[in-house]
Amino acid sequence: MSLKEYLIEGARELGIDISEKDSDLFFKYLENLKTWNDKINLTSIKNDREIIISHFLDSISIASLIEDGKKVLDIGSGAGFPGIPLKIVRRGLEETLLDSVNKKVSFMNDTIRKLELQDINAVWGRAEDLDNEVPRGSFDYVLTRAVGSMSDTLRLSSPYVSENGVIILMRGKRGSEEWNTAIEDIGNKVELVEFKDMTLPLSDLKRIILVLRPL
Ligand code: SAM
Repeated sequence: MSLKEYLIEGARELGIDISEKDSDLFFKYLENLKTWNDKINLTSIKNDREIIISHFLDSISIASLIEDGKKVLDIGSGAGFPGIPLKIVRRGLEETLLDSVNKKVSFMNDTIRKLELQDINAVWGRAEDLDNEVPRGSFDYVLTRAVGSMSDTLRLSSPYVSENGVIILMRGKRGSEEWNTAIEDIGNKVELVEFKDMTLPLSDLKRIILVLRPL
């Protein structure tokens, strides 16, 4: 299977059709990621197929939970995950990608420019800093993938959620245990809307996805 077929097949297993144009964008992203990764540390995963599974497919695995046209904040987006892959398959989203490391923000904005994506912007700052430029209370979806402990991430995310918005936490295989621990701490501050337990396509990698609404 070619790399392109691999991406298309993985996405198909997630219920997502990757168009010719989407596939070009994913491969431009892959090239840019590898170029920058030689200079700054963006990902420890170097193999193309592993990047496709662990970064691209993992990122778009939440697409079915997200309504197109809405406002998204990705906190601790790093090299753009999940925000940029999600934008490729949900082009109507309005996205802000926040990270505390300036070089990562430069990489994300360079990628956004090269892919010619609209209504998406990477911003430098810490989520807890009151003077960062990201507006509070205005996002339909606040996403985090692999950022800190669950309790800390929820505390960081909650101020940004709009009245009817939700937080989506993307965690690894220990996500259930993490939730059981976090619930003691923040269980009275959030409502669990959805709990998804999945294996990523073309792999045996387990993922836990939690959709939470701040109370
Ligand atoms: N979400 C990306 C992914 O899944 O590949 C990156 C995950 S990486 C483990 C965590 C990222 O969160 C880093 O890029 C780090 O700079 C950023 N980060 C950590 N704490 C943060 C904070 N308080 N505010 C904004 N970004 C933060």
